Amino acid sequence: MRSETMAIFRFPRAQGQAERSTSGETPPQGAFDALLRLQATLDIEELLANFTSLISGELSIDGYSYTGPRDSAIHCQSGHTNRHALAYQLMVETEHLGELLVYRARPFTEVESMGLEDMLCLLVYPLRNGLRYQEAIRSSFTDPLTGLGNRSNMLPQIQREISLSHRESRQASLLMIDIDHFKLINDGHGHPSGDQVIVCIADIIRSTVRDFDLVFRYGGEEFAVLLVNTDNSRATHVAERLRKNVDMHTCRLPDGHGVSPTISIGLSSLSRQDTPQTLIERADRALYQAKADGRNCVRDHAL
Ligand code: GH3
Ligand code: MG
Ligand code: MG
Repeated sequence: MRSETMAIFRFPRAQGQAERSTSGETPPQGAFDALLRLQATLDIEELLANFTSLISGELSIDGYSYTGPRDSAIHCQSGHTNRHALAYQLMVETEHLGELLVYRARPFTEVESMGLEDMLCLLVYPLRNGLRYQEAIRSSFTDPLTGLGNRSNMLPQIQREISLSHRESRQASLLMIDIDHFKLINDGHGHPSGDQVIVCIADIIRSTVRDFDLVFRYGGEEFAVLLVNTDNSRATHVAERLRKNVDMHTCRLPDGHGVSPTISIGLSSLSRQDTPQTLIERADRALYQAKADGRNCVRDHAL
């Protein structure tokens, strides 16, 4: 059974707490060195590794785990959990910076927990900088309307998946998806309703494919999906299922009306010579064919 109570560590600390470590004196040189070391990285995992190595002189632990603020999807851990834990909700003023737990077999003493709290004072600002940096990176790769990856995120991710697929002799397929006659929806119901339909289709795509498939908003009313570890025949099934799911669905608009859009899909499957660009080009050509064939259909661009 583990003993842990989640304490709130808030910086700046209350008067009494702050006095304990500084008592109005100049902080020791060691604190400046430690701060410099913590400020040397914006990578959360590296920062926490530096932090635990800094505290290891004063406090022996078996491991730690850190979970970032909600929606950050950041979780890192090192070493192993154990019977006793010191657990903190980290705060700077009113900003929540996540939870840090350190573990070991022996109970922690009062002096040890006070020492750790002194060191947390040095951690919180570099941690906040790191979290803000990660968030800036994440949002630069995310389409704000749908929450999907955006186009600038797509090429590097597809490149990475292609390299993995080649290395592990896996298949992969790409779907390029375009909403049919979308301009009519905009013209008939207004731009905000058009936006709502884009979100609606994004949700259907997300819920039709698997969690580890890569879904992007490619442009205005266009999407791309990289189906990981999926050969041409399975990809055709997925594309057809997606097309039907959209066809059967009614998107509710802000004005209370419903519209039932359709999509056209172009499909290409990975060959050994493919780069992201050639894979996209083939799927694009297949999409063009799907439009030419009357829309609301799937077309495959065979090599
Ligand atoms: P097709 O079946 O050939 O694809 O016809 P379409 O009307 O869907 O295609 P077209 O390229 O003629 O029009 C796409 C429209 O999408 C034009 C553009 O104004 C609109 N659009 C692009 N981005 C957005 C957006 O973010 N929100 C909204 N509401 N409309 C957008
Ligand atoms: Mg289009
Ligand atoms: Mg369109």
